[in-house]
Amino acid sequence: MSYFDYNATAPIRPEAAAAVIEAMRSVGNASSMHQPGRQAAHRVDVARRQLADLLNCSPGEIIFTSGATEANNLALRAAYTAGNPLVTSPVEHPAVLEAARAVTADQSADLVLLPVGYDGLVDLDALDHAFAARRGGLVSLMAANNETGVLTDLRVATKAAHEAGALVHTDATQMVGRLPIDVAELDIDLLSLSAHKFGGPQGVGALYVRRGSPLPHRPLLVGGGQERGWRAGTLNVAGIIGMGAAAEAAARSLGEEAGRVTALRDRLEHLITGTLPNCRINGRRDQRLPGVTNITFPGVPADAVLAAMPDVAASEGSACASGAPTPSHVLLAMGLSRADADSTIRFSLGYATTDAEIEHAAQAVKRAMTQVRAALAKADGPR
Ligand code: PMP
Repeated sequence: MSYFDYNATAPIRPEAAAAVIEAMRSVGNASSMHQPGRQAAHRVDVARRQLADLLNCSPGEIIFTSGATEANNLALRAAYTAGNPLVTSPVEHPAVLEAARAVTADQSADLVLLPVGYDGLVDLDALDHAFAARRGGLVSLMAANNETGVLTDLRVATKAAHEAGALVHTDATQMVGRLPIDVAELDIDLLSLSAHKFGGPQGVGALYVRRGSPLPHRPLLVGGGQERGWRAGTLNVAGIIGMGAAAEAAARSLGEEAGRVTALRDRLEHLITGTLPNCRINGRRDQRLPGVTNITFPGVPADAVLAAMPDVAASEGSACASGAPTPSHVLLAMGLSRADADSTIRFSLGYATTDAEIEHAAQAVKRAMTQVRAALAKADGPR
């Protein structure tokens, strides 16, 4: 099996798996005052520091959550105040788009979606227009797109938003642990992440909130007051410790891994486009995450291709929601036709991908494509 779905979830890093197993063997609620509790709290503190180091923030600016979905929901709920514009983009993950719709539900006129180009880049010049008549509010733009890997120039976005008096949130779920991201340098107010995208366990993540951000206290979960009242509930000690270990491992090899993964991705693209010259790579190629390639094979349904190569785990450009396949909202927003979106495959790779997997996937795509084209020709032929 060759694994090409790192953007769905990355394999857990050995350091993180070891940390989770060890933590699960120890008893202790991080809120308890006795020794096992204090030990758990100490390990959570270490993980908070490891994650803060990856983002270049202080540990006190991290709120642990169950993942990026919760972090995005919390960010938008906490930082958006009714009556102000909420500016985002149509290529965001549903965890931002749906949260944005929810917080502006009774005032949808305040939800502004910036235009997106065919190259997947959000038009940041349109930010000035969005704030032409009003000031304040919230801008939420993803650092890297989960389907195409296209990166947002957060420096430009933050400058424009702050000049308009707005706060800036970024869903950096696909960026953290893959490329360096420095919240201080970028001047970001809030940032969401999820551990399992960078080799930590699933079901744990965090929201960074810049100290001193003018946020009304609006937690999603109230109860025992954990996380300084921002997220009630017993901490997921093992998950948090695993996330910290993954953050440290990712930070250690960030530059080297990014270079290696870029070279592997480029090799895969080279092999695929070499044998299938009419395929198209989607998204701005020189402004992408290292480990993603999103390829349209015109006229060939992606689900059939994936079914014809069961030993390659990649994903379709369309998602199956409630049993009905729906084309990717990201590809449609970029201007692809429904047919092209349905003929698109995302290959995402990462820190553990090998040369052999690249060669294997390229061969498998070629074989599967031949097989599916032959089946299509037969179905179209004389009856
Ligand atoms: N944002 C982005 C950009 C994502 O890719 C994902 C995961 N696919 C999420 C948010 C949600 O993360 P989680 O499911 O871990 O909550």
